[in-house]
Amino acid sequence: MKREDFKAAINGKDTDLFVLKNEKLEVCITNYGARIVSLKVLKDNHWIDVVMGFDSIKDYLSKDEIYHGTIVGRYANRIARGQFSIDGKTYALNINNKPNHLHGGPDGFHNQVWEVVNASEKELVLSYLSKDGEEGYPGNLQTMVTYRLSGNELEIHFEAKTDKTTVLNLTNHSYFNLNGQGTSTVLDHTLEIKADHVTPVDETLIPTGELMPVEGTPFDFRAPHTIGERIAEDHIQLAYGGGYDHNYVLNRNGEGRTLAAKATGDKTGLTMEVYTTEPGIQLYTGNFMKGLNTLKGGYKDDLRTGFCLETQHFPDSPNQAHFPSTFLSPGEVFKSSTSFGFIV
Ligand code: BGC
Repeated sequence: MKREDFKAAINGKDTDLFVLKNEKLEVCITNYGARIVSLKVLKDNHWIDVVMGFDSIKDYLSKDEIYHGTIVGRYANRIARGQFSIDGKTYALNINNKPNHLHGGPDGFHNQVWEVVNASEKELVLSYLSKDGEEGYPGNLQTMVTYRLSGNELEIHFEAKTDKTTVLNLTNHSYFNLNGQGTSTVLDHTLEIKADHVTPVDETLIPTGELMPVEGTPFDFRAPHTIGERIAEDHIQLAYGGGYDHNYVLNRNGEGRTLAAKATGDKTGLTMEVYTTEPGIQLYTGNFMKGLNTLKGGYKDDLRTGFCLETQHFPDSPNQAHFPSTFLSPGEVFKSSTSFGFIV
């Protein structure tokens, strides 16, 4: 990867590549989509790159999978039919995942060049002003994301403010492979998720509103299982997602940072732990990957060669009053933190 391959101008704004590094981790991030391009972990004197990505901005612009490593917003995941109401007024968002709105719409945060507020070896702070009406959302929303290295962890912190009541849900959409990106499927990775329930979905992947106990289902990752062990079982929820594409309701004791999930690569023994302040986490097992894109190092993004653990509020919360609220009003400050820690 060369820095000059990330220097471009998109909509008149300059893109670049930033490197955070300590003795355990090296993370490359571009301000185009505030996305993680690579995340290398030092194990036995070798750097293992555990996040899928591409070699240049040109590649990011031309590939058909557009969410690699990005910050997703203004609303990560789906909003049913792209509609919701605030104080009796209905808002209509762009429909980009028929019949629903997905990941903030075609020109969501993933497709924006973020401003660089501060860049050092340990920390990168990026900000983006999403204008009132962008993709159909109300309010000027100022979002700041901080990527920070701290020992064996990559921390991601969000802060956001609005000038009109709006909805938001922010996450990072990295595809992980703890064996090293591109080198294998993730089906033999071991996974644990600290959740007794998922939010089951309809055939368009919108939550039905119920909470489904994972007990006795292929969704039970409370004790470690490999990702592939039960992925082909006959379960209507697996059929809807083409595999795992579901929001887990995290078991938590009050607010604050909690362990959400833990995964281990079968070939490397490398373990990743995800901590978050969010109420949910989306497990997505790369069910739509088709091997059409060439990754860093010439690898292909074949079916299920990466998995996402997207910390989040629940999908379609603006239309489901009993889910934790995703509304943000003027005067409030939205804050959220997630960390990915690596144990060699
Ligand atoms: C969603 C998938 C979607 C994917 C796109 C995931 O967060 O849950 O349904 O296909 O993002 O990259």
